[in-house]
Amino acid sequence: MLNVKIYTIFPEIFPGFLGYSLTGKALENGKWALQTINIRDYAFDKHGSVDDTPCGGGAGMIMRPDVLGNALAHNHQGERLIYMSPRGKPLTQQMVRNLAKEEQLSVICGRFEGIDERVLEAYNVEEISIGDYILTGGEQAALILMDAVIRLLPGVLGNEESTADESFENILLEHPQYTRPIEWEGRTVPDILLSGHHQNIARWRHEQALEITKQRRPDLLQKYLDSQKN
Ligand code: SAH
Repeated sequence: MLNVKIYTIFPEIFPGFLGYSLTGKALENGKWALQTINIRDYAFDKHGSVDDTPCGGGAGMIMRPDVLGNALAHNHQGERLIYMSPRGKPLTQQMVRNLAKEEQLSVICGRFEGIDERVLEAYNVEEISIGDYILTGGEQAALILMDAVIRLLPGVLGNEESTADESFENILLEHPQYTRPIEWEGRTVPDILLSGHHQNIARWRHEQALEITKQRRPDLLQKYLDSQKN
């Protein structure tokens, strides 16, 4: 069971697409639970101001430390606290597996130009990025992080959706996949997959995974080859 707390100025975004399919069923079945904290509820003026202009000048607005700090002071109970941020550690499947072991996770979603540094320091916040590009808000990133984590919680995926040979689970990218019809618009499924010979199929899939990884992600192939040496 994973309890997730989201600090956001747009609570209505949640659970969003996490309310559908496997993650939605898991939410209904109590495999995870979601609490949204509207940062605006912790503002000090009647307009609910959460942002102000950057000290030192420059474009855009910064989320105020006192308002977010107030939201944290009322709700934070020492859980692992994550700020979705392009400056953060780039998210990997290994980090996702690690996060899926937690029972409590709190996620802060930034807006505007981001968050005043002091609140990040004061609460020892861990910054995680979902990639080297800039979004308009942390909510999108938080949904992606949570989707990746929730699908690894016990009982969320059935046997049919096993994660064992997926891309990244064993460093390599996944082999090509096929289903019926066996022939489609003149293209057939590779014979080996119809042979019923499990060992040969496993070998073929592994070779394909190596080849695709070599072509598309030579960095990952090198990591795989290094891991095989030990
Ligand atoms: N000025 C900031 C970007 C702010 S984008 C900078 O240059 O670093 C607004 C918010 O979107 C951020 O506070 C963050 O919560 C979220 N965000 C944007 N890009 C992201 C990414 N790649 N990964 C995770 N969160 C991101």
